[in-house]
Amino acid sequence: MQVLLQPVASKLDKNTIYDLAKDISIEFKNVKVTAVASIESHTKAKVQFVFDKRRNQWDSFKLLEWILDNFKPTRRTKILGILDIDAYSGGFDFVFGEAFYRGRVAAIYLSRLRQEFYGLDPNPSLFYERLVKEAIHELGHVFGLRHCKNSRCVMYFSTSLLDIDTKRKNFCHDCAKKNFR
Ligand SMILES: [Zn+2]
Ligand SMILES: [Zn+2]
Repeated sequence: MQVLLQPVASKLDKNTIYDLAKDISIEFKNVKVTAVASIESHTKAKVQFVFDKRRNQWDSFKLLEWILDNFKPTRRTKILGILDIDAYSGGFDFVFGEAFYRGRVAAIYLSRLRQEFYGLDPNPSLFYERLVKEAIHELGHVFGLRHCKNSRCVMYFSTSLLDIDTKRKNFCHDCAKKNFR
């Protein structure tokens, strides 16, 4: 099984994506994690049709469908889209990420992981910690993990930055029993 990290509309530099790939592989044993270079044509313009002007946000579910259609992952591949946008889904005002449960596609949305979004000074290391946790969390879903009640576990359902900052980037003992195949 392999995971592709696919920046779609992302300001992350290459090194950050490579670091992210490394940190994800620590948690997903037997899974090959590859960082795909950001392709020039995969800009926001391509996914503009899922932008909701009224909300000034992006429709997460439609984005996941677009990623699936556009990148066509095979049966042995999971794609994690990385987008520097603010997205919503269903009844939620916003989401940090979303995944097709046991599917082939997940995505994380970076805007709300940054201190700047809240009018605070940038904090690159805190941002990176959040990025890693949300990436592992959404990939956990595509590999069949559900939300965990343990607030320190990466599969805990985070509805705020405090939730994200409280949890660790690892699976708890129970979640770690899962085989990622
Ligand atoms: Zn979740
Ligand atoms: Zn857990």
